[in-house]
Amino acid sequence: MDVKFLKGVGPRRAEALSTVGVYTVKDLLFYFPRRYLDRSKILQAADAAEAALANQEVTFVGKIESVRILRTRKGRILSVHLRDDSGTIESIWFNGINYFSKIFKEGGFSAFSGKVSLYRDRPCLFHPDYDSLEEESDWQLLNTGGIIPVYSSTENLRRVGLDSRGLRRTIFNLIQNVLNNRTQSIELLIDPLPIEIRQENNLVEINSALRQIHFPESESELESARRRFKFEELFYLQVLLAIRRSAIKSSPSIVMRNYDNLTRRFLHEIVPFPLTNSQKQVLKEIVSDLKSGRPMMRLLQGDVGSGKTVVALISMLIAVENNCQAAFMAPTEILAQQHYRTIKGFLDQLQVTCSLLIGGLKPTERRAIYRDIETGVSKIVVGTHALIQERVRFHNLGLAIVDEQHRFGVVQRMMLQEKGRGNDGQERTEPHLLVMTATPIPRTLALTFYGDLDVSVIKELPGGRRPVRTVLRSDTDRMQIYRFIRDQVIAGRQAYIVYPLVKETERFDLRAASESFVRLRDEVFPDLKVGLIHGQMTELEKEDVMLAFKQNKISILVATTVIEVGIDVQNATVMVIEHAERFGLSQLHQLRGRIGRGRHQSYCILMTDKKYISGENLQSHDEFITRERLQAMIQTTDGFKISEIDLRLRGPGEFFGPKQSGAPNLQMANLITDADILSISRKSAFALVASDPHLRKPVNAQIRFKLLSNYKDSLEFLKAN
Ligand code: ADP
Ligand code: MG
Repeated sequence: MDVKFLKGVGPRRAEALSTVGVYTVKDLLFYFPRRYLDRSKILQAADAAEAALANQEVTFVGKIESVRILRTRKGRILSVHLRDDSGTIESIWFNGINYFSKIFKEGGFSAFSGKVSLYRDRPCLFHPDYDSLEEESDWQLLNTGGIIPVYSSTENLRRVGLDSRGLRRTIFNLIQNVLNNRTQSIELLIDPLPIEIRQENNLVEINSALRQIHFPESESELESARRRFKFEELFYLQVLLAIRRSAIKSSPSIVMRNYDNLTRRFLHEIVPFPLTNSQKQVLKEIVSDLKSGRPMMRLLQGDVGSGKTVVALISMLIAVENNCQAAFMAPTEILAQQHYRTIKGFLDQLQVTCSLLIGGLKPTERRAIYRDIETGVSKIVVGTHALIQERVRFHNLGLAIVDEQHRFGVVQRMMLQEKGRGNDGQERTEPHLLVMTATPIPRTLALTFYGDLDVSVIKELPGGRRPVRTVLRSDTDRMQIYRFIRDQVIAGRQAYIVYPLVKETERFDLRAASESFVRLRDEVFPDLKVGLIHGQMTELEKEDVMLAFKQNKISILVATTVIEVGIDVQNATVMVIEHAERFGLSQLHQLRGRIGRGRHQSYCILMTDKKYISGENLQSHDEFITRERLQAMIQTTDGFKISEIDLRLRGPGEFFGPKQSGAPNLQMANLITDADILSISRKSAFALVASDPHLRKPVNAQIRFKLLSNYKDSLEFLKAN
């Protein structure tokens, strides 16, 4: 039903509501409170001074005693005094003075929320969140221990009387009518979650959950309503993953039975080191997928330096041995080139042809490579995004591998896999898929981003490695650090010196690196070989520098973050990171992963401001977090721990950076705190799809409808069936 027919709404308010996405009565029911005023959490004005120390959000409720515009030396301010039984608390606005001075009326009841600060030694709130209350009903609710919902409002809504208080009144009427079934015209909602799922997971029915989320009688009632909606939100995501998995797993795939020729020869004659037990275990898991006749859908996790590449290579040899092609996609050209070099070195000994496909090739070269891929002359193709260009056609792609998956989105991995989709008689066949990631991600995130994949983990680093030693240093230590680098180089080792990427101006980043390069080369290390690599060099130039570094023709490599992922030079033992405070935690961990890859003790030196080292004179929350990041680097080299800390410090939204598409936009659930709800919703979702893969059963009709209306694009599979 259109919201305008609701009692107390009408066309004008309906129009305003449409600006926040509310068109129907049902939409309004799902316009959830932004927060709540809970009697037990409300502070007395007399206790404000103490709260100033706690740095926590608090709420005061009372009668507005005065609204005054004052002149100070710096300009005008708005001062509002709120009185409760214990005294008064002042709130101050520096901006929007005219606007706010009209909003607050002397004698009205209001709630102000915010952090208490000290202004001229008196406790006060700067620009608090506010909510006007109704003397009768709200007041009573609060005093009887009830909880008052606070709704977000906009200028458009306020103009028609729908500030938080107006919304509260309107929604209250609605709830009374609908959910108590008082009118014939508005019906109870049908719960999209089947009753078994609700019972199994102890979830509140939707109509009472809606009542509870708007007007909870107690904290625990509110909690169970929230839990239900969080569950539902995570549940749909997990159903999507389950469907994607079941869609692919239901197709046949090439059965790879032969291991005797290439694979065995590689393992016995060519591979230069014994595999670690972890690598062997993971290979076993991969082999059992490759033999199964169903497409492999596997995530290979392993910390930086754990040796994923060789596992990928062996998997590709198996594919080749079974008359298929294999593709290996890396996120950067430098990395693709490095992999190509490593892999080609082995493949030449086995007489397997392999190609490198990256952007920026000459048209004739590119055409030749396309041809080799299409005719099947190239057995193994290493490349970048260039691999998923439309014009690339494989002869018979049997295995697709994505390296550093966290740098790609879900879409890219699916596009690569699609390159191998074929027709085996009547049925659609799918190639095997292996995605690798060095950033070990916390379990909750893995279940959300890679929840359609099986997971293999390389748990140990190759033997003989020593953990990298990490230290924080500042400018005053510079001479000593240069001496240290010099000693390492004289002992035969190599060093990276990395400069941060400054987002707004890539040029600046380049300048910082190039200027330092000149200084280091000419003044600090005139007798040593210093090289420079950055993102604006041509592919050929970059390739030359990397090769020279790999061959130890360059001892000290000054670099921007182009070397961040995957680069593998075992002889490098020093990583100096300039302006370490500007890097994210996973990025620092990735960079540190460039060293400590061989037998020699390695050292990571994080250059930063003194205040981050001592922890003194930190000015803001951000600076505090920055120090935490740097401290984490000193405390552990364990990628899993690092990622847990990173998640805690940053929150899941930014965890993957802008490149990761497919990050769920969660309204209710929180991937850090709701891990338990995630895991039960996942169980139910996978069970549901197992019993009804196309969601055809009538009990699941609502779920199907919901998915098709909210996630159309990702659901070819449901639409087609
Ligand atoms: P990542 O997992 O970060 O991609 P790589 O595959 O680049 O790691 O391997 C890191 C380094 O360890 C490489 O130089 C590789 O040759 C070496 N390596 C891999 N497996 C082993 C092993 N079992 N024993 C010794 N060295 C190994
Ligand atoms: Mg790697």
